Amino acid sequence: MQGEVDLTPGLGYNEVVPITVQACGVAVKMSQHIDPIKPEVRALAPYTLKLHTYRIKLNQNENPFGFPEALKEEVWRRLRERDWARYPDFYLRDITERLAAFAGVPPDWVLVGNGSNELLQMTFLACLGRGDHLVVPVPTFSLYRLQGVAMGATVHEVPLTTPGFQLPVEQIIETARAHRARIVVLCSPNNPTGNPYTEAEVRRVLEESGSLVLLDEAYIEFAERNLRPLLDEYENLLILRTFSKAWALAGARVGYVLGRPKWLREIAKVKLPYGLNIFSETAAVVALEHPEVLMQQVRRIVELREALYDALRRIPGVHPYPSQTNFILCRFERPAEEVFAACLERGVLIRDVSRYPGLANHLRVSVGTEEENAALVACLTEALNAHP
Ligand code: PMP
Repeated sequence: MQGEVDLTPGLGYNEVVPITVQACGVAVKMSQHIDPIKPEVRALAPYTLKLHTYRIKLNQNENPFGFPEALKEEVWRRLRERDWARYPDFYLRDITERLAAFAGVPPDWVLVGNGSNELLQMTFLACLGRGDHLVVPVPTFSLYRLQGVAMGATVHEVPLTTPGFQLPVEQIIETARAHRARIVVLCSPNNPTGNPYTEAEVRRVLEESGSLVLLDEAYIEFAERNLRPLLDEYENLLILRTFSKAWALAGARVGYVLGRPKWLREIAKVKLPYGLNIFSETAAVVALEHPEVLMQQVRRIVELREALYDALRRIPGVHPYPSQTNFILCRFERPAEEVFAACLERGVLIRDVSRYPGLANHLRVSVGTEEENAALVACLTEALNAHP
């Protein structure tokens, strides 16, 4: 693009000053006083991902084995038979019923979306506006804060300060009650720390916060246990899940939320109709018909995670944290950006989380295949030896 247009606000707010600038060689008429962007949004740093060249990708916690070929074939076969000219089923009955059976809830306790991120945003849209409050323990997935702020809500970040990143239950409850927070978001197991919160901790937040608790279980398939049974007991619980991690379908963008119909009906009102396209729906349905194939991959990823944890622990200067996910958070004695760059130089892309609150000198590595993990360990060993 030539002649970039700078829409910086603040100049001549009350005057209409038509100016003409050249953008892509075309004359564009602008009025400097026009700024349709909400101040909350303008103040936000975007959720971004830097583009890098790499050989081995361990930065986004995807399933390293990919969607199984036999299931892909079945998806192709079904897609050839579907009528692409028609809208998807308005109620997404097939996938919703399968998910309900899988999660052990009635179908009207399930809402399917275009990735769990969409359902997070729709939940916020239905619940949060200016003057509302959201409570989030940090460090955690940065999208919660970003979307809360974008809705105009005040976001209260409660630091996870113990060495194992345990949930500061008292502080969460106090903060939620003091501000009459509408929502508390808990990510369990938490990204990027990898630890789950205990059932007792989550129960206390459900019982004492006075808020809706949105429990993000994006990584639950890799954990020892899920908190799905709490749905039977607590009305103020919503559980968010995704097909992007264990189910090897990050490219398809499929997520779902479980909870009482009285909440899901309201969230559905603000969701766009036909949010899930027929291609993604078909892939997710085929996956749900063969959970054992994907869960076998999950068991292998868990084994590889434990082996990777042991190998990382043996590298001087690397301090991995135990994980119940498909990634491992590590603290380094050397500056994180140097370790990140040294890995990238060797073709291994990991995630720099050193700017997350409380995580200076930390990096996150996804669990890859056996070969990928070996390459990561070799690269870290070499990089840290080269610069003691
Ligand atoms: N929740 C958490 C905690 C995540 O880490 C991620 C992926 N980075 C997501 C949700 C995204 O899920 P989806 O791909 O379903 O939008």
